[in-house]
Amino acid sequence: MEKKPIYSFEVFPPKPTSPVESVSNAFAELASLKPDFISVTYGAGGGLNGGALTCELCAKLLHEYGIKPVAHLPCISYTKEEISTVLQDFKAHGITDILALRGDKSPDRPEKDDFKYASDLIEFIRREGDFHISAACYPEVHPEARTAADDLRHLKEKVDKGASHLISQLFFDNAHFYDFREKCDIIGINVPIEAGIMPVVNAAQINRMVSLCGASLPRKFTVMMQRFGHSPEAIRDAGIAYAVDQIVDLVANGVDGIHLYTMNNPYVAKRITEAVSGILGRSL
Ligand code: FAD
Repeated sequence: MEKKPIYSFEVFPPKPTSPVESVSNAFAELASLKPDFISVTYGAGGGLNGGALTCELCAKLLHEYGIKPVAHLPCISYTKEEISTVLQDFKAHGITDILALRGDKSPDRPEKDDFKYASDLIEFIRREGDFHISAACYPEVHPEARTAADDLRHLKEKVDKGASHLISQLFFDNAHFYDFREKCDIIGINVPIEAGIMPVVNAAQINRMVSLCGASLPRKFTVMMQRFGHSPEAIRDAGIAYAVDQIVDLVANGVDGIHLYTMNNPYVAKRITEAVSGILGRSL
């Protein structure tokens, strides 16, 4: 029998100036859609306080909503001692799953010397305790990589050091994902690779996301944005339909999992989940 694809969500903490309660309703609604796990981002700019928020929200997902949390953890701005403290905090709250990341470089955020790449963090976490470690991957190549082959070798290093699950950067053209998956297979990366899907439901979001992550936009997508971008309702419906179309094609092509970048929007996540639950073999 075909294995059921993993289905997971990503959420982010509120701004440090807003209370945790400001996302509680959204998290509760997202949890009610029963994804396999919900990952919580970690604001690389927020200092260690970013970690405290991520930890608090992961604990909430686990203990209040009964959903497995995955805590994101970027490392370049932290020392080993600081990361060790965060790991102990995760463990004390029952959080056992970590998405180990390097973090984006920024002139506003000084880097420290202990961790240069995510693979250094993966090695460190492996030594520190019993965690399930995931890592990020880039179907359209990480923007700083010298070549695609280099990027793939570095990804293999993350898996060899202990990442047993990969979550991809968002993409809008499934062909990039299939090509990447084939290359992973050839190089011997044989852990599950979840496809990152971002439903684009407003015009501002697309400009911000694409400039940040460099995803290429297929013609079908740009035509859609031009035609419907002026109407909030139209672009929302078109964005949801586009994401559903991507997911149907990915599942038909045997994807290991779908990781939905929810942007803390339960309405959008619910519509997508309802539309694809049958093809994912899930009941709502
Ligand atoms: P790495 O795997 O370390 O790779 C970074 C670059 O270094 C790549 O170009 C790689 O090819 C290269 N490289 C790796 N190893 C070597 C080596 N040995 N020698 C030379 N070059 C090497 N950021 C946050 O701050 N918080 C988050 O919560 C967050 N969540 C994310 C979730 C997902 C699913 C994704 C895809 C990204 C997320 N990010 C987050 C962004 C991430 O931190 C950035 O994309 C960052 O630029 C790279 O992180 P990485 O872990 O992939 O880095």
